Amino acid sequence: MSKKAIGIDIGGTNFRMGLVSEDGSVEYFYKASSREICDNGEAVELLADKIELYIQEHGMQGQLSAIGIGFPSPIDAARKVVYNCPNLQNSTGGFDGRNVVHSLQQRLGIPTFINKDACNLLWYEIEMHKWKGSGITIGFYYGTGIGNSVYLGNGFLDGKHGVACDVGHIPFYLSDRYCTCGNRGCAECYASGRVLRDIWQEHWPEEEFTDIFRNHSDSKVIQEYLEGMAIPMATEINIFDPDRIVVGGGVMDMKDFPEKMFWDYVYEFTRKPFPGTDFAIVHASKEPGVGVAGSALYAFEQLRLKGKN
Ligand SMILES: [Zn+2]
Repeated sequence: MSKKAIGIDIGGTNFRMGLVSEDGSVEYFYKASSREICDNGEAVELLADKIELYIQEHGMQGQLSAIGIGFPSPIDAARKVVYNCPNLQNSTGGFDGRNVVHSLQQRLGIPTFINKDACNLLWYEIEMHKWKGSGITIGFYYGTGIGNSVYLGNGFLDGKHGVACDVGHIPFYLSDRYCTCGNRGCAECYASGRVLRDIWQEHWPEEEFTDIFRNHSDSKVIQEYLEGMAIPMATEINIFDPDRIVVGGGVMDMKDFPEKMFWDYVYEFTRKPFPGTDFAIVHASKEPGVGVAGSALYAFEQLRLKGKN
């Protein structure tokens, strides 16, 4: 019988959960506000309550191989501790510094694997396209912030502390803007969904936000925004010379996003002749359960790796 795992995708706004099979199919998809797990109380306990209730409601006791969770946060190298989730705060500090794996395994008795959300999103694509062992794959997700992940063909690039590939926080030159991370001049101060909303509020508040690209893609401020999006992307392309780039996220998926203009900025900054324009562009899957499936597929992969050791 095919194994089943619970996959969870925790975003700054929405919390998604599903029962996932090894082929990536999702059942009992559940979506709620992320506030529900960081209201009053200990966030990890609220999360455990939610998972426990979900297991009971669907009669899944004793049938789960694993739980996989993606957090909008850097995770430690051992993939157990959530470092810093500014979007999931509460009076007790949200998930920051918590050993989520230890707490959940103790409460629920199910092997639990956590990861940065962008890694789990990219993992879904790697599994579906069968890219394991085939070159370098980069994931870029332009959402509230900039999600980023680099897969080197045999594993994610994690770094000494587990926090590698946070390209949304590379600094821009001579900047006077401050980032939610506390540093000055991060790319996210110029190219995140948050900044796009600020631009809309400042320039065209009387219009619908969702029309911003349709109405204003040629404007100086949106051209600068596109250039800001392109700089971290081109930087990473020049460093890694990747085989392919998976690109997605709420900003890219907005109506009339001027994708050609965006890539023209990227190509302007990539080194010639290579990488130049010689990498595949793959749009991230848009189904609502992708993050959930990716989290669970990552958990299945970790179980397989553990079984080999
Ligand atoms: Zn930053």
